Amino acid sequence: MKTIREWRDNMLRLYNTLTRTIEDFKPINPPNVGIYTCGPTVYREVHIGNFRTYLMADYLRRTLEYNGFEVTHIRNITDVGHMRRLDQENREAIDPVIEEALKVGKTPQDIAKHYTDLYLKDEEKLNIKKAAKYPKASEHVKEMIGIIKILLKKGLAYETDGTVYFDVKKFKDYGKLSGNTLERMDKLLKAVRISVETDKKDSVDFALWKKAESDRLMKWDSPFGVGFPGWHIECSAMSIKYLGDTFDIHTGGEDLIFPHHEDEIAQSEGASGQHFVNYWLHGGYLLVDSEKMSRSKGNVYTISDLENKGYEPLAFRYLTFMTHYRTKMNFTYHALHGAQTALNRLRADVKNFDKPKIGCAEFEQRFLKAINNDLNMPEALGIVWELVRSDYPSSAKAESLLKFDNVLGLDLFQSQVGSRKLQVPQNVMEMVREREELRRQKRYHLADQLRNKIKKMGYNAIDKGKGTEIKKI
Ligand code: AMP
Ligand code: ZN
Repeated sequence: MKTIREWRDNMLRLYNTLTRTIEDFKPINPPNVGIYTCGPTVYREVHIGNFRTYLMADYLRRTLEYNGFEVTHIRNITDVGHMRRLDQENREAIDPVIEEALKVGKTPQDIAKHYTDLYLKDEEKLNIKKAAKYPKASEHVKEMIGIIKILLKKGLAYETDGTVYFDVKKFKDYGKLSGNTLERMDKLLKAVRISVETDKKDSVDFALWKKAESDRLMKWDSPFGVGFPGWHIECSAMSIKYLGDTFDIHTGGEDLIFPHHEDEIAQSEGASGQHFVNYWLHGGYLLVDSEKMSRSKGNVYTISDLENKGYEPLAFRYLTFMTHYRTKMNFTYHALHGAQTALNRLRADVKNFDKPKIGCAEFEQRFLKAINNDLNMPEALGIVWELVRSDYPSSAKAESLLKFDNVLGLDLFQSQVGSRKLQVPQNVMEMVREREELRRQKRYHLADQLRNKIKKMGYNAIDKGKGTEIKKI
């Protein structure tokens, strides 16, 4: 029987950017939890910095599942409007990658599909669990227009010559996430005297809908004229559509706190009149060799770049565990090398373990406490190594590690479930593990049923002494 103290100590606690404190996690409708993660812009390859942020969302989700919650995770695909993006001086600039693709006759849709497919493959290589849905911005323009119409009707937005702006001064809670309140912004803007879009009532206002220039490639009809949505409105539209007016958790990188997430709150709460999101989680930036990644410096790395140098994507996953998600992380190949070596060693140790049997309660308790303490993965990893080096019987270590790997997602038992080279899909791997568990419990009938299911997915699961060998049919 757990004491209240123990129960509280092990309860999931998360740092909430909204309140700037670590809070107990209380879902709206337990055991269900809704998470929305701002997804990639698919006009160029998604880089390892983006993946650090998506990995954080993945181990958040896995931690919730480990705690018994049922998670609906939505990750959008940004595939509209930003065929032109603002450069650092706030001028519109066309991305050189897009320019090249257009020159060789590709459509914006071709480009978006190409990079979306690459992104999904990389996600799989990193053992990032599939989202319940990957809504595309281009397929939700109707929903965005719906929100803009409500905002206009409520007097929270105004239209000038085919462009619609959010009237920030009308939304009293503006600034509650980022601390950039109207007062502060006014001072800042006055100090630098920027007013790029001169038809705004106020320089703090942001666009909900923009009038299309004649050379714009992706544009839509709307009650406000032919145009395209502002960047922030897509996330309000898609998160509300799939998770409701109020949902549990929203994640992104720290650069999105302002203006993207602040503006999402203004639009969503302005339109629905409801509180938008209960917990805002933001991941720290990834730097390369202590510098910001940038194309001009040639230090924007992708997962394929790491693979081409001989590293497993999962070594990068391991590496991200070594820094707490809110702290900036410095990527170097030297550190990746260390992570790969550690991962190989861990797998080699696991290979010699006996069959999993009754885990180590003490370590399981400590592991849970670490991940539930605002996803303290560096500590969790330390506990993993302590367990491996401990005097517990290897069957107990195996049992506990098998559990931990549901959160770590490092395929620690891959040697027992087939070679990585086979590229067995994650869902098949999960079924194989589940089947091994059933066999251990001597529930052979259910195990056989699962074997048939695996077969239907194109793989033969062959029982071997210590585990399962998987062969593609
Ligand atoms: P973007 O495609 O630029 O909208 O970025 C997608 C996600 O990656 C957002 O959540 C960003 O905050 C995040 N992100 C972008 N660059 C980095 C970086 N260097 N380190 C960590 N996260 C990043
Ligand atoms: Zn977003």
